[in-house]
Amino acid sequence: MDFLLPRAICRLKPANPPRILPRGLPKQGRCIASAATATQQPVPFDEAPPVPLRTPPHPHPLPQAHPAIHNRPLKDTRPFSDFLTDSFSRQHDYLRISITERCNLRCTYCMPEEGVPLSPASHLLTTPEISYLSALFVSQGVTKIRLTGGEPTIRRDIVPLMHEIGSLRSKGLKELCITTNGIALHRKLDSMAEAGLTGVNLSLDTLDPFQFQIMTRRQGFSAVIRSVDRILEMNRLGAGIRLKLNCVVMRGINEREIIPFVEMGQEKDVEVRFIEYMPFDGNKWAKGKMLSYKEMLGMIREKYPGLEKVRDEMNDTSKTFRVPGFKGRIGFITSMTHNFCGSCNRLRITSDGNLKVCLFGNAEVSLRDLLRKGNNGQPIDEDAMEAIKQVEMDRRQALPGDAQPLGYGERERELLELIGMAVKRKKEKHAGIGELENMKNRPMILIGG
Ligand code: SAM
Ligand code: SF4
Repeated sequence: MDFLLPRAICRLKPANPPRILPRGLPKQGRCIASAATATQQPVPFDEAPPVPLRTPPHPHPLPQAHPAIHNRPLKDTRPFSDFLTDSFSRQHDYLRISITERCNLRCTYCMPEEGVPLSPASHLLTTPEISYLSALFVSQGVTKIRLTGGEPTIRRDIVPLMHEIGSLRSKGLKELCITTNGIALHRKLDSMAEAGLTGVNLSLDTLDPFQFQIMTRRQGFSAVIRSVDRILEMNRLGAGIRLKLNCVVMRGINEREIIPFVEMGQEKDVEVRFIEYMPFDGNKWAKGKMLSYKEMLGMIREKYPGLEKVRDEMNDTSKTFRVPGFKGRIGFITSMTHNFCGSCNRLRITSDGNLKVCLFGNAEVSLRDLLRKGNNGQPIDEDAMEAIKQVEMDRRQALPGDAQPLGYGERERELLELIGMAVKRKKEKHAGIGELENMKNRPMILIGG
């Protein structure tokens, strides 16, 4: 059936293939700012148009890292970038970027039926801005970037954007992941794999098409299953895309699906992660609707007493288990009952360009405003990004040789100082049940989960 497979997959060897790299990586010292223009446009349900497979490398200089940090693998890098290290010595090498506020579903636990008020397009980060910030964070030791939203697959230029971020592998990026509801994913998977996609977290809260419609207030179950099957098929051919299913469990709604999800792993090599229902603005959270990890574990153990713990990876937010003999695994994300703040290595950038150091904290700083200072506060498209960088290069070259700075340009320095300040203010741990539900926070869709 090879003739049906996408080009990216046909080229792969069956076992332990190298990660799929975009051809024509930018040369060292060059930036990945975008070929595609920028601002978010309304996208009708499941109708984002096809996108070109590749974008050519772009001749922008990369934000310069300190020579001691630049281009060295994170775990070898001591000391880790001070800008990304907080006052509890946590090193943040994982960046989650929300690339849209829009979504083609209306999951009840995530947002109200009528949706959420959206930011004006000019407030959202453009593709060159996202690429620029990605490069800046990678220059500081970020090794994993996840694109999320809203629903990231409905951003028209997601594939070119992924190509640009994917090209940061040559600068130390190791993982490029996406969190998606899977509705539109199957149509873009092959080009995403070609861009360097290494992991997909796919949200699926039920295996029943009718229940799907109740929980998401939309149709689309079969499209999601198509995406799951497609990833598994690609993986059988060696694509090596790490697949996890995210399942938010709500009492009285879908807890009876826990066992069928566990049993999915009998034949399929997937990890299903049961997520404790969390409170966000507008999602009508109530303690009684939340199933704790212990309760879910108890339900599974009743049917599968042999369930065994699997060693979790460093910085894992999930507690992982397996039923002996099953191909798949299960995990629990226990944000409500057992926080994992001690090993938190995550930073988030919202679609409107705010850096958020904690999912549950409402402290945010605007990277967008600082970045746009050099463009009279206006969104930076590709041409503007090039012009800004040229001004910076000219300014540097005009300085006498011994006065030329070795490290960052002025804008990078300012951004890094702002990032460093926000990271240093990160709290030791977030609030727990009893406090969280009373705190002001964005709706989940505007944070990027
Ligand atoms: N639209 C994409 C998706 O659904 O995967 C990405 C954005 S979504 C906000 C990211 C993740 O947050 C999803 O896995 C979703 O299940 C999870 N999520 C949203 N609201 C939640 C809540 N109240 N409690 C727990 N997880 C939630
Ligand atoms: Fe959309 Fe994801 Fe929120 Fe569901 S969880 S409404 S798919 S953003």
